[in-house]
Amino acid sequence: MPIYEFHCEDCGKNSESLVLIASALDNITCKHCKSSNIKKMMSATSSQPVSGNTIPAGALSGCSSRSGFS
Ligand SMILES: [Zn+2]
Repeated sequence: MPIYEFHCEDCGKNSESLVLIASALDNITCKHCKSSNIKKMMSATSSQPVSGNTIPAGALSGCSSRSGFS
């Protein structure tokens, strides 16, 4: 999905727009103030690699050193 993020030079707010064709970039206006004075931002929101589950296997098995020595 080609979703671009734009920064409005007039009101300073950001907005996202779904751009299907490159020529539509010239017709995009700010969602907040309808200004055409916007800049396209380099957004990587749709291309970030999915990461997770990086917790070591032994990290959740604590409490093993509490036995004895009371
Ligand atoms: Zn604006």
